[in-house]
Amino acid sequence: MALLQISEPGMSTAPHEHRLAAGIDLGTTNSLVAAVRSGEASTLADEKGEHLLPSVVRYLPDGRVVVGSEAKAVEVTDLNNTISSAKRLLGRGIDDIKTLAGRLPYEFADSDSQVPKIHTVAGDISAIEVSAEILKTLKARAENTLGGDLKGVVITVPAYFDDAQRQATKDAARLADLTVYRLLNEPTAAAVAYGLDQDEDFDEKIIAVYDLGGGTFDISILRLNRGVFEVLATGGDSALGGDDFDHIIAEWILQQQGEHASNDPQKLREVLVEARRVKEALSLSDTVNVSINDWSDTFTAEQFAELAEPLVKKTLFACRRALRDADIDKDEVMDVVMVGGSTRMPIIRERVGEFFARPPLVDIDPDKVVAVGAAIQADLLAGNKPDTEMLLLDVIPLSLGLETYGGLVEKVIARNTTIPITRAQEFTTFKDSQNAMTIHVLQGERETVEENRSLAKFTLRDIPPMVAGAARIKVTFQVDADGLLNVTAEEETTGAKSSIEVKPSYGLSDTEIETMITDSMVNAKADMEARKLREQQVEADRTIEALDSAMQSDADTLLSDDERNVLLKAREALVLAKESANTDSIKDAIKAMETAAEFYVARRMDGNIRTAMAGQNIDKFKE
Ligand code: ADP
Ligand code: MG
Repeated sequence: MALLQISEPGMSTAPHEHRLAAGIDLGTTNSLVAAVRSGEASTLADEKGEHLLPSVVRYLPDGRVVVGSEAKAVEVTDLNNTISSAKRLLGRGIDDIKTLAGRLPYEFADSDSQVPKIHTVAGDISAIEVSAEILKTLKARAENTLGGDLKGVVITVPAYFDDAQRQATKDAARLADLTVYRLLNEPTAAAVAYGLDQDEDFDEKIIAVYDLGGGTFDISILRLNRGVFEVLATGGDSALGGDDFDHIIAEWILQQQGEHASNDPQKLREVLVEARRVKEALSLSDTVNVSINDWSDTFTAEQFAELAEPLVKKTLFACRRALRDADIDKDEVMDVVMVGGSTRMPIIRERVGEFFARPPLVDIDPDKVVAVGAAIQADLLAGNKPDTEMLLLDVIPLSLGLETYGGLVEKVIARNTTIPITRAQEFTTFKDSQNAMTIHVLQGERETVEENRSLAKFTLRDIPPMVAGAARIKVTFQVDADGLLNVTAEEETTGAKSSIEVKPSYGLSDTEIETMITDSMVNAKADMEARKLREQQVEADRTIEALDSAMQSDADTLLSDDERNVLLKAREALVLAKESANTDSIKDAIKAMETAAEFYVARRMDGNIRTAMAGQNIDKFKE
């Protein structure tokens, strides 16, 4: 458990200092910010008392940016400059969005960069910038309410977000000048809000999180094991949400209106707005009066249930599939958490309850629950609860890497990566006919081996004889939900394999982790310099090795004594430069050595061609 009981750098606080922290739910439709105040986590309202901030951003010609309901109100009249659902584009490349673009009302700018940009009157804007505006608004709200600067935030992301999408979310936070303690999976946040991680009666439990938002449906199956959340499976439909329920009511209205119905987009818009109102009102009463201009009718919960049936079924199919992917039986699920505004619909609660054969958790406002969980995490990470014996984390606290030639460390898994995780990297041999390779596993943030923590060392043997650089050695790092690391090395052409299991957190105290992280920041510049020096030294070795092996094979036939001496002099100068430990002198000496050897290289090449062509039909080489 030691791995999970860390505090972040600089966050182990003096007893009475309270650090301001917040949790942010950056949603597709709506976003929220929450904080723990007097021990209670709750969402924060704007001046008008609104908690939900519509995730809509409008760009004006004068460069002003409007965020939230004010932007949403004009969405239809200023489609091109009012951006909603930016979350769908976060971390996506030009190619990814081609399929999405057709469904979105924006003009995409032609851009050289891989990040798609939307053309607006205020210039070309990326989804990262749009998200940053939303985050800035929430940051200002939190700082006004809490009365001080935020020290850090936890931002939630869908469990299925990949690295690029997570990175884009972090970039947006950086643009908004926010310190991100960490990103947290939305379903995990919801489970935390309900305190499911605090349940002492179970070592392990399975939780289903059903999240029906405005435009997306996500189902996640989580396993909570001694305080660690592991995502077993995710599923859902990125094109199914509350909006679809609006549409079915709108269709009904249009049908009832008969000849009153119109194709005018403005009128259709009105119908949709009324449809949404009716849908939301039906969550509170069984019959609702529907009226548009001079037309009116009544609509009942029963009618709605019937029309909504195909949509409800779709979500339950996705639940079934996710359970199958997770290899979990329905009756193993011990808690069902409801998330997203659309789970207020009684029919959804009822059917989900039937499906899992247990009443779902609905006590916490379903559109606030994710932000609340994030706030609880943020408060813990800020160090405001020094007594808590355990921090719920689902990430690795320090980077894991390998020693490479020259005493340098190559990071394989970066710190704060969510676990469980598997990452592989390819390495190669440095010397001709090298038949073994030592795999040295390290933990920490620094650039050189001595300054990181050595976790394990093992040797991959039986590498077949090959020239330097030809072997393909795949090293795989696998960290499971308990934070256990398993490292495997395999030579890919022969399949020679070797592996070891290590516990990366063993023996490392909180303060040690902190020091390692702060050290890496303080020493970043010195480390970079050390790294450059090592790299040049490695390069020097490589050049010398190459010269030696060449001279060994053909110096006698290709070089005169004088020529040989010139090369040996350059070699000697390089050896001296390497010992001087001055990056620039080594660089220069390598250059000099290469220049001196140019004629030799050319001669060897000619020789090779001649050997290769000997006895061959010349025509063969003409094609
Ligand atoms: P997202 O996670 O996509 O940002 P939310 O969780 O905020 O979205 O959910 C927004 C959706 O919830 C909208 O479709 C909205 O109509 C729906 N919704 C909000 N309140 C109710 C209600 N009382 N009954 C039914 N649907 C509701
Ligand atoms: Mg949501």
